[in-house]
Amino acid sequence: MSYKITLIPGDGIGPEVTDAARLCLEALDIDIKWEVALAGEPALKKYGNLLPSQTLDSIKRNKIALKGPITTPVGGGFRSINVALRQGLDLYACLRPARYIEGTKSKYKDVDIIVIRENSEDLYAGVELKDNDPRTQDIINRINDISEKKIKQGSALSLKPISEFASRRISRFAFELARAQKRKKVFCVHKANIMKYTDGLFLKTFREVAADYRDIEAADIIVDNLSMQLVINPNQFNVLVLPNLYGDIISDLCAGLVGGLGLAAGANIGDNIAIFEPVHGSAPKYTGKNKVNPTATIRSAVLMLKHLGEVKKAKILEEAVFAVIKEGRSVTYDLKPNRDDPTAVGTKEYAQAIAAKIKKGK
Ligand code: NAD
Repeated sequence: MSYKITLIPGDGIGPEVTDAARLCLEALDIDIKWEVALAGEPALKKYGNLLPSQTLDSIKRNKIALKGPITTPVGGGFRSINVALRQGLDLYACLRPARYIEGTKSKYKDVDIIVIRENSEDLYAGVELKDNDPRTQDIINRINDISEKKIKQGSALSLKPISEFASRRISRFAFELARAQKRKKVFCVHKANIMKYTDGLFLKTFREVAADYRDIEAADIIVDNLSMQLVINPNQFNVLVLPNLYGDIISDLCAGLVGGLGLAAGANIGDNIAIFEPVHGSAPKYTGKNKVNPTATIRSAVLMLKHLGEVKKAKILEEAVFAVIKEGRSVTYDLKPNRDDPTAVGTKEYAQAIAAKIKKGK
């Protein structure tokens, strides 16, 4: 089988980590034709646009993309290319597995949690109104007319839209995934005790969907309690489904439980299109230094192979990663017991060690 896949190197450390993933995929002898598409700083330089239409067209055409991180400009203007991609292509489910790997400095053993983050709405929907703007003031006045709670004059506003439609499809996604992976219990994470309408709707819809999946246990937990429970005993959780903002924060927390951002893979999945990318950002201070850990991107490629139905190849790649980390020799600085260890290898050499392991196993 041959595949045409859009490769978005991104910026910062993006080109280095995506090159590393590509090197490992090449060792698997899968017929992949890469269509390189720019986003972020290189796209701005070439096309004067952080997210050019050529890139969106390529993803829409190929339906699958592997993506490096992209720096988000701070302050006004463009909100985030990543959010624009997820929303523009309706990649409504963000999948972030957090699994313990032997040989990492993880504080916890045997953690195996899948975080499923709703990707299209909530405070991340991008409906924000600037402080001291007459249009914002107009909205504040209208809200103050109908609400017992009053908003201070001159405030900025962020809206938190939660719909039954989006809550239903993400809950379904979570139960389907739990069923496919033989996971026994799905937790809905919320703050419905305080946000009765928005998180309340998310929870109510989750419960309705759960009724269609009697073979899987459904439970719910308030997000602050979850945060504490994750630190005390993460092994009690297996599948978490959350609205967008909690999902963003809790998936980083879960990444921290199993050795940090350098290891955490992610996927943004819609009905027809999927983009696979590491959870971490562009780590600008490491750009071009051949230093960072590309495991998160390589594991995102593992998720991509599984999505394509290349389950055997995905397993070979995943096991090669696990073996190299367990040996602890040819690993990046962050995977060494001491971060100043002079025997740490670079991003590329680490990927080469994984590729060599794959080739040796043939
Ligand atoms: P970051 O993930 O880039 O870095 C956080 C910390 O983790 C830093 O200390 C960094 O050096 C370290 N780190 C990150 N990746 C690593 C790796 N592979 N190996 C070793 N160490 C690694 O987060 P940030 O500094 O908050 O964000 C930098 C930029 O990236 C921002 O513009 C942010 O908006 C953007 N960002 C993009 C994405 C994405 O493209 N999906 C995701 C998150 C952040």
